Amino acid sequence: MQRTEATVRGVIFDKDGTLVSFHHTWDVAVDVALREVCSDTATRAALAEAVGYDLPNRRVLDDSPFVAESAATLDLLVAPFADPHAFEDAVVRAGAVHVAPEPGAFELVEMLGASGVPLAIATNDSAESAVKQFTELGIAHHFGAMLGYDSGFGAKPDPGMVVAAADAIGCSVGETAMVGDSSTDVYSGLAAGAVTVYFAPGDADPELASAADLVITSLSALPAALGLAANPTI
Ligand SMILES: [Mg+2]
Repeated sequence: MQRTEATVRGVIFDKDGTLVSFHHTWDVAVDVALREVCSDTATRAALAEAVGYDLPNRRVLDDSPFVAESAATLDLLVAPFADPHAFEDAVVRAGAVHVAPEPGAFELVEMLGASGVPLAIATNDSAESAVKQFTELGIAHHFGAMLGYDSGFGAKPDPGMVVAAADAIGCSVGETAMVGDSSTDVYSGLAAGAVTVYFAPGDADPELASAADLVITSLSALPAALGLAANPTI
């Protein structure tokens, strides 16, 4: 059966860059974690460089391992300078304290949740980090499942996490939309057989835009794009 947005009943969201503002959250959280685990200035600078963090400008670099690499690879990069588990723990805690939503994310999740649309998270961050961040944002209760790279279904762009998330919220994958801002989201959604929505709030990648079933430039456009009725009371 051809995938069409008319069949969508449930929605799976990526986390960072989709519902959570990547830079507004992690630029602060990584800085806090670096200061927590490295009291020595020289070691902190070396660790910052190893994990792709611009310490003077307080910014996660675009090619940072936080963006591009697995947690296992990140651990190897951290190990020469700090205990990887202590650093990861500090990053997760700071990420929950400093979490900032993408514009419209809170309103979208509240509206879809109030309308009874089954919702899930599929993130290449850890499941624990997702639970902590959405709890802090006050919208965790709307998600029937929050899966991470460590939930046992693989990591995006492999389709396993998307298939498992659809199953966990009681939808077939074909009646589920996968919404995300990066290639891992688009290709995991397509491979799983979900209706794949590329969220491109800035400059869209032409390859991803043509590969995806739908492209949206703002989160507020999602319900209409998927044919999901807005709750008139909200
Ligand atoms: Mg993302």
